[in-house]
Amino acid sequence: MKYISTRGGSEPQNFEQVLLTGLAPDGGLYVPADLPKISKEQMQVWQSLEYADLALAIVVPFIDGAIPEAELKRIIEDSYKEFDHPAVAPLVQLGKQEYLLELFHGPTLAFKDFALQVLGRMLDYVLKKNDQRVVILGATSGDTGSAALEGCRHSDQVDIFILHPHQRVSDVQRKQMTTVPGDNVFNLAVEGNFDDCQRIVKAAFADQSFLPEGRQLVAVNSINWARILMQIVYYFFAALKLGAPEKKVSFSVPTGNFGDIYAGYLAKRMGLPIDRLVVATNKNDILHRFISKNDYSVSELSKTFSPSMDILISSNFERFLFDLFGRDGATLLDFMERLGKETLSVSSEQWRQVKNHFDSASIDDETTCNTIEQIFKENGILLDPHSAVGVRSARECQQNNSELPMITLATAHPAKFAEAIAAAGLSEPVLPVHLKDLNEREERYSVVSNDLGKVKNYIKTHVRAD
Ligand SMILES: *Cc1c(COP(=O)(O)O)cnc(C)c1O
Repeated sequence: MKYISTRGGSEPQNFEQVLLTGLAPDGGLYVPADLPKISKEQMQVWQSLEYADLALAIVVPFIDGAIPEAELKRIIEDSYKEFDHPAVAPLVQLGKQEYLLELFHGPTLAFKDFALQVLGRMLDYVLKKNDQRVVILGATSGDTGSAALEGCRHSDQVDIFILHPHQRVSDVQRKQMTTVPGDNVFNLAVEGNFDDCQRIVKAAFADQSFLPEGRQLVAVNSINWARILMQIVYYFFAALKLGAPEKKVSFSVPTGNFGDIYAGYLAKRMGLPIDRLVVATNKNDILHRFISKNDYSVSELSKTFSPSMDILISSNFERFLFDLFGRDGATLLDFMERLGKETLSVSSEQWRQVKNHFDSASIDDETTCNTIEQIFKENGILLDPHSAVGVRSARECQQNNSELPMITLATAHPAKFAEAIAAAGLSEPVLPVHLKDLNEREERYSVVSNDLGKVKNYIKTHVRAD
């Protein structure tokens, strides 16, 4: 299978090539040139598979031989063995047609482990095969950092640098990153916000001449196609459990960079009978304004109780827009160049297509806390603030159509966000056993100013020699 850039100005690449890079040279994101279509009969066979076996069946055509199947099977099995629930992604019922898909049973307690455990092992395999070393560089609003470090730190072929916005991630999120041991692990606290961190990372990828000879940067944020790929699996897993392909289901997805929900959109295009995809946002509501009012304009960043969704522009939305614009890279490029300078909208026909797939909501902090409290009273379940935004959005959007199952993705464990839980008036959740002593572990990180040159220099002086 080939991967093409959304901006139409780069050569098609194979899986190994897109795994080992970030953006395409023309600034676009890689997407599969075409998608496998899954038949009803195939899905019926898949209904009885365990999580890891289903994952293997779904991803094989996308990997297209870049990793031999026996090796791929080992990588996937090892990855999901790290999860502390036998179902890997358990479904919990909240109400009559209301479900939660718990995606926080991995090592760092957020859904990002689903992709990054596998990505780290895939990288290790490919780099060893090529006898190659690379530098991983990523920006995090909190959860990507620890998941990437956990997924990649065991590889001797990588040096890994993670930027987070100084004092803008939760205490638990920070400690999960800064206590990861290893002389190939580097945490940088940038004196700026998450978008500043993303800007620095993007600029470093665009000009990599500061790196030692023979090294290149690899992205671990959700512009890396392998992350999107691994997230397609749980949409199938959950829907098949609730009656697909015979029955339709809907999903509500707490959304920041649009990587998670984009995987749901791909699952739908592959043939999974998904009715609605609910884009659940916090006060940072650009996607909600677009979906509900055809207004795609950048506003100010708000700091909320759900920091992993505090994002001004969702990078993966470009992948959806590419389809919306008939896969015309030039139209997309023009649209992206006007973004941030003017209020953008799409044609009424295009907007109708958007609404064909997506519903949306924007939930403020107060309603988030009320929802945490309400679900705890109703079900005895403690939601993290991101998942609470998801559940609340699901309820707002399901009002007119409660016949079909609505599955909210529970994207993080509540213990990661003690502040929001306290604000909801509930007692602090306990960390799972493997993180019990997190507070006693030694933290290592460097504070750097919001400056590309400073960050480049830090990387240059800390990368390990051959
Ligand atoms: C990353 C993250 C999100 C947002 O996911 P996107 O793929 O960026 O849309 C939501 N919730 C949690 C807990 C996260 O870590």
